[in-house]
Amino acid sequence: MTIRLINENGLYYFVFPNLMSFPLKHAIFSRLGGYSKGPYYSLNVSYNVGDRIGCVEKNLKKIKAFLGADSLVFSKQVHGSKVLVIKEKWQLGRDYIGFDSLVTNLPKVALLIKLADCQGIFLYDSCNGVIANIHCGWRGSVANIIGVTIKTMIREFGSSPSDIWAAISPSLGPCCSEFKNYKKELPKSFWSYQIRPNYFDFWKISISQLMGAGIPYHQILLAGICSACLPSLFFSYRRNKRTGRFATAIMLERSESRLANRK
Ligand SMILES: [Zn+2]
Repeated sequence: MTIRLINENGLYYFVFPNLMSFPLKHAIFSRLGGYSKGPYYSLNVSYNVGDRIGCVEKNLKKIKAFLGADSLVFSKQVHGSKVLVIKEKWQLGRDYIGFDSLVTNLPKVALLIKLADCQGIFLYDSCNGVIANIHCGWRGSVANIIGVTIKTMIREFGSSPSDIWAAISPSLGPCCSEFKNYKKELPKSFWSYQIRPNYFDFWKISISQLMGAGIPYHQILLAGICSACLPSLFFSYRRNKRTGRFATAIMLERSESRLANRK
């Protein structure tokens, strides 16, 4: 089983069992277990969708406490391909705008991505102790934000793709990925991922971009759950334009250098 649903203190979240043996904490939070009301019921983590600021703050606080994080890093996402690299403590506690990919090697720093149908993609370099969390909608796929992030990990941390694990969150599945204007919106290289007229398999596109960047196939985990098909568990922009955003988060439990010292 690639993904498992857990209910803990009213929070319903998913984990990838294959990542559980690593010194990191990760979760794909469902929309349940938070404070927001109405279309944002209830664990909405976005300040930019019309929800009450106080509710969003309480939701984020609950997630931070659940993870046991010292810091929660997120950005206002813009469907671009800019990567935020967090290497130093002074970079924490700031308001970031315009980053759709987050990377760090700092322990106890949780990287949070906000989703409603787009893919959240975790990366974990098991050798150097580096994590990434990516927001990837179709524009991110076109810009290959996956490849850009992996290149950043190689450049900034000396990561080797053969050490990287990847996990793709619940997101818009091929069942619901209709692109009527695909000839204008999607490059020709994506057209072979059309599974029936106007419907595309963006999960497969991401897997091919991950492999194109050098990640071995057996280290790629796919949740395989469509967010638009499960409105009771996930916010879906395709289903309801006025809706919240659910969260994915990943955090290193300890730094690799400290691990090395213990040996
Ligand atoms: Zn679906």
